[in-house]
Amino acid sequence: MSVVIVGGGIGGLTLALLLHRAGIDCRVYEAATTLRPLGVGINILPHASRIFAELELDEALAGVSILTSEAVFFNRFGQLIYREPLGRAAGYEHPQYSIHRGELQQVLLDAVNDRLGADAVMTGYQCVAIDADSNGATARFQDPVTGASMPSERADAVIGCDGLHSTVRKLLHPGEGPPLYSGVNMWRGVAVWQPVLSGASMIRAGWLKTGKMVIYPIRDNVDGEGRQLVNWVAEIETPRHTHRDWNRLGKLDDFIGAFEAWHFDWLDVPRFLESAGTILEFPMVDQDPLPWWSRGRVTLLGDAAHPMYPRGSNGAGQAILDARALAEALKTHSSPVDALAAYERERLPLTANVVRMNRTNPPDAILREVFERTGDKPFDRIENVISASELAAMSEGYKRVAGFDRESLRTRGPALSPNP
Ligand SMILES: Cc1cc2nc3c(=O)[nH]c(=O)nc-3n(C[C@H](O)[C@H](O)[C@H](O)COP(=O)(O)OP(=O)(O)OC[C@H]3O[C@@H](n4cnc5c(N)ncnc54)[C@H](O)[C@@H]3O)c2cc1C
Repeated sequence: MSVVIVGGGIGGLTLALLLHRAGIDCRVYEAATTLRPLGVGINILPHASRIFAELELDEALAGVSILTSEAVFFNRFGQLIYREPLGRAAGYEHPQYSIHRGELQQVLLDAVNDRLGADAVMTGYQCVAIDADSNGATARFQDPVTGASMPSERADAVIGCDGLHSTVRKLLHPGEGPPLYSGVNMWRGVAVWQPVLSGASMIRAGWLKTGKMVIYPIRDNVDGEGRQLVNWVAEIETPRHTHRDWNRLGKLDDFIGAFEAWHFDWLDVPRFLESAGTILEFPMVDQDPLPWWSRGRVTLLGDAAHPMYPRGSNGAGQAILDARALAEALKTHSSPVDALAAYERERLPLTANVVRMNRTNPPDAILREVFERTGDKPFDRIENVISASELAAMSEGYKRVAGFDRESLRTRGPALSPNP
């Protein structure tokens, strides 16, 4: 069995490691001419970190991330709504990592280079077409800078791990429109700052109508004086938005007004935002779940298969779970066509539920509930607005749909089946 992986992002590199472990030949073809540490913060929850533990990446990841230990929710007046433990602090066997996307990609890339060899990732190969027949599938590439044709590659299967603007998805579903705007625009960046709250807290505050912030650290002691690299995302409902590009620059003046009064004892938000260097801007978008992902020997994985709102820390995690399911299917089916169909049967319905849940009731729905019940006013006691058990039920409901509630992880068996 041989596999061509289109895209060397989080999903594509994880798939390469899992296929290698299963004894399946593969190579990654990445459009970027060099893999640079792009993006900012990303979270890996226990359903995905247990797969990284099986791949023996846990030590490398722990060295460049924060093991996040609690989720904390505030209203825009800085009043505490809800707090719950996360990762190991919540009794999971495996941690929640908060990490710079570039660091995560580098850990995966180093492991791919070590285990599969230095030519396992071919950069500067932009996939433009795929021809499949009953004996195999051929991916065709061009140089992303010059447009010149690059050598094509034939394999038993071709997997599109090429992200939100996936070419492979467009080849399979040419009639689909562009990503769908949610009505929320996001600005994001990182600041070097002293630890906020526990120093391992994932903070969500405010609400989308008037301005919401997500703040969490992704790296310890970056200046030798104990300050951390702290990731932030500002999210505001607005009709204004531009085409989503992960690297579009944003301006502080366009959104800081929403957070001007956010001077809390746990953080002076305007000062914190002013200290950020580069600000990136992108609209919150997703796509309706597809009716199918696989045609014969070609399928989709990760954001290419199911782009979702980044409201549940699950974009990378679901790509990693896809990679696990696909590697297991390719290992257990002698026909690649059957393997891709089995993978799709397992993962499409589950990820479609996460896409829909991220639209309606992701974890930050807790903030919406309090915003609506209080009419966006400060409260005297949170218990008079919403009970602790109702808040916990909202949080647990999301975990079950996304597949990381503690009980199902505990009873699910090993993250990966034994090596062949
Ligand atoms: C530059 C960048 C920055 C990001 N920053 C963040 C962030 O800060 N926070 C966050 O939560 N998520 C971020 N993401 C998204 C996040 O990585 C994904 O949601 C998640 O990890 C799922 O991974 P994926 O492998 O499906 O897609 P991605 O990680 O997006 O990887 C897709 C890969 O495919 C490559 N590619 C695209 N088209 C082609 C083609 N035609 N041929 C070959 N290769 C192709 C891309 O260059 C990219 O390397 C970012 C993604 C990118 C590409």
